[in-house]
Amino acid sequence: MSSTDNTAKVAVIAGAGPAGLTAALELLRRSAITPLVFESDSQVGGISKTVNYRGNRMDLGGHRFFSKSDWVMRWWQEILPVAAGQGESATSLRLNYQQQTHDLVLGAPAPSSSDAVMLVRQRLSRIFYRRRFFDYPLKLNVSTLQNMGLVETLLIGLSYSQAKISQRSPEISLEDFFVNRFGARLYRTFFKEYTEKVWGVPCREISAEWGAQRIKGLSVTKAITHAVAGRFRSSADTLQKQTETSLIERFLYPKFGPGQMWDEVARQIAARGGEIRVRHKVVAIERRDFEITAVVVKDESSGMLQTVPCDYLISTMPVRDLTAMLKPSDDTVIRIADRLPYRDFMTAGLLLKRMVSADPRAAANGMPPDNWIYIQEPDVKIGRLQVFNNWSPALVADPATIWLGLEYFCREGDGLWSMDDSRFIDFAARELEKIGMIDRRDVLDGTVVRVPKAYPAYFGEYRDFDKVRAHLDGFRNLYPVGRNGMHRYNNQDHSMLAANSAVSSILKLGEGKADIWNINAEEGYHEEIEAVA
Ligand SMILES: Cc1cc2nc3c(=O)[nH]c(=O)nc-3n(C[C@H](O)[C@H](O)[C@H](O)COP(=O)(O)OP(=O)(O)OC[C@H]3O[C@@H](n4cnc5c(N)ncnc54)[C@H](O)[C@@H]3O)c2cc1C
Repeated sequence: MSSTDNTAKVAVIAGAGPAGLTAALELLRRSAITPLVFESDSQVGGISKTVNYRGNRMDLGGHRFFSKSDWVMRWWQEILPVAAGQGESATSLRLNYQQQTHDLVLGAPAPSSSDAVMLVRQRLSRIFYRRRFFDYPLKLNVSTLQNMGLVETLLIGLSYSQAKISQRSPEISLEDFFVNRFGARLYRTFFKEYTEKVWGVPCREISAEWGAQRIKGLSVTKAITHAVAGRFRSSADTLQKQTETSLIERFLYPKFGPGQMWDEVARQIAARGGEIRVRHKVVAIERRDFEITAVVVKDESSGMLQTVPCDYLISTMPVRDLTAMLKPSDDTVIRIADRLPYRDFMTAGLLLKRMVSADPRAAANGMPPDNWIYIQEPDVKIGRLQVFNNWSPALVADPATIWLGLEYFCREGDGLWSMDDSRFIDFAARELEKIGMIDRRDVLDGTVVRVPKAYPAYFGEYRDFDKVRAHLDGFRNLYPVGRNGMHRYNNQDHSMLAANSAVSSILKLGEGKADIWNINAEEGYHEEIEAVA
């Protein structure tokens, strides 16, 4: 607790995503400061919200709940316990994810009898390329060789050997990074298309440094050795069994999608006396030198403006917006913040009677078993396909139907973004039909969700981000936290840890404020590219 009297102090929080809501709940749990949360959207949860379309729920991106932070894992389970009956024993469960392990204690009722629970899900995500499914992470096994064909496999092997003999040096671009580690052919086959779809720029224009930071498990040599060694391994080899077990990845998932977590947190905030106003946007900031004194909030329903005095401002709004509102006297800071790059995102929700599939693992109605599928086909724009039924059956109103999310990476205002909703639904359905996954006549319904600034990007003006950060750090009572709040390409756990540190710093009268930028929750795991055997 702080040494000062915090009664009657107000912390304004801009944004009710995971960062803003964590900050609000932690302030209420740990202090007498009143959090007042303003959210421009009509619901809480930020990018981690769940959109309810006629009883079918959409998760924007497919949010796995797993963190290397014990604090985050415990925090989530306090809000929504893990349902019993899903583990090796009735009361405990070991969760493996990204080579990390967490032991969970199961206590809540079984999922069928309670709604306020988290499910344990097994991850399956494959790559769809040449109208075929490949394992993900990419495995050098019989099925991959069969899918690629002998000649292509040999060509990939040759190009890999060539890259090992003559490395591109200096390694400047992401393309150099990929080619040096995989060879040009494997890079063109599995990495170029998807990476460029996500970021909207050629890999030649993304820095190699980005690859080193974001792309893991790159040992093709290890993969080949493992695959070859596997041929000589007896089926009773215990080491192999252990490896396979550790590769079965499991994560937690709220029964009704990620938004259920944040709706419940919002309910607890209100129950403890905090206030959340949705459809209220922070549009201006008032300051005295380097101290925030108030924010101006616009009620999006009535258009009314209101000035709200505050003792602290915890901001999860994009750094670009925050900086503009602070009106820095240094033009360089404004220019850098204004040009920070983002990538936007659209999802078409499609409800279907059945899917068309030659996949032997598909269900009788053609539904693949995957949580999501990476679409590597160069003749379509779709980047990823979510199969919501496989995240949680409770996301789907009628269990006889298939509820899909067709994900597109785009730029706010571009051709895709501006497309009329019904045209976009039709376009997305045609794409899925083109790659042989559905017959459009089986589409029952559809909707579209647009997510601006879904991905803060690390190129262009971002190289000078430190100047913006230094400016923001100069404000005594300002705490930028979260994904866009810090311009960090991160997951919920990082946003929550940053928010929790901001609260700690407020309670310690500003001590540890700079450390918030050093939090490392082991960067995101949703766009990772791995090659393992
Ligand atoms: C495709 C995709 C897949 C993902 N998968 C995972 C995953 O598997 N696991 C995981 O943990 N994370 C995942 N994430 C990341 C996760 O969505 C984010 O890390 C998390 O939502 C960030 O929380 P936040 O509160 O920092 O920001 P946000 O979720 O962006 O919330 C910020 C909020 O601030 C509001 N706001 C902005 N400006 C203003 C303003 N001026 N006034 C008032 N309100 C404002 C916004 O409307 C928004 O609600 C994924 C993200 C994407 C895009």
